[in-house]
Amino acid sequence: MTKPPPDAEARRAVPPVICYPNDSLPQPDLGLYGQALAGAEVTDTVLAPPRDACAFRVPAGSFFRITSVDGPQVGDLNLWNAQDLTERFYSGKTRALHGTHVTTGERLWSSFPHLRPMATIVEDTLGWYGIDGFGGSVHDVIGTRCDPYTGNLLADSQYHHCCHSNLVRALADATGMTLKEAEPHVHDVLNVFMCTGFTRDTGQYFMKASPVRPGDHLTLFAEIDLLGALSACPGGDCSSEHSSDTAACFPLKVEVLTPEAGALSDWQSPQRNGYDGSHGR
Ligand SMILES: [Zn+2]
Repeated sequence: MTKPPPDAEARRAVPPVICYPNDSLPQPDLGLYGQALAGAEVTDTVLAPPRDACAFRVPAGSFFRITSVDGPQVGDLNLWNAQDLTERFYSGKTRALHGTHVTTGERLWSSFPHLRPMATIVEDTLGWYGIDGFGGSVHDVIGTRCDPYTGNLLADSQYHHCCHSNLVRALADATGMTLKEAEPHVHDVLNVFMCTGFTRDTGQYFMKASPVRPGDHLTLFAEIDLLGALSACPGGDCSSEHSSDTAACFPLKVEVLTPEAGALSDWQSPQRNGYDGSHGR
């Protein structure tokens, strides 16, 4: 242990400053999105089977809804620009802009050099949960995804149905890529319905039983043409363990909803970020 300086307490007492005050972020028109959603029709339905993933495509200006069916289940979501897989969901920047967990009105941002909203959350039936006494909340952008490499590192295991592998297979099947080609495109996720936080004493990432129940759902508006993949995590409700076949697991339903023609009036898909890309040269 290093020896604290004489003014250690004074240094600790300095109040924090929000890194990215987000009042200047372009705001989504939730009223418009809500009206469009009210008249939208389900045009596609896919199911992520337990311990497996599904892929789906959502045109810009449509919605997709992830619903818990049969039993409490956590989902790991990846999103790509349907025309350019190098533009993908950037969980780290989404966290920096909105916080550790996301809910209605917040957006999923894309990777550099694009950095634009890919999707906007328009419905969250777990929005009531807030932040519990342990510092836990739902729909996090702090976890990565369960994966066979960390399992191997910690337990010398060879497990093939972690979310990472499920997403790799789903992306390969959706695009015709090989597993090797698909794997580098899989990225840190939005942990849908997962209840997580950091312990206050050791700062460790924790999970606890998700409050999700069948019928709960998260609905997002596609700001650009999306290819998505959703894994029904082998951890089930993530109350005990993941990266194994031990937990009770349930499917997750994904519906694509298409609004009526003209329902979005003059809404336009966001442009990619305005930085000129010259990096000082
Ligand atoms: Zn998982």
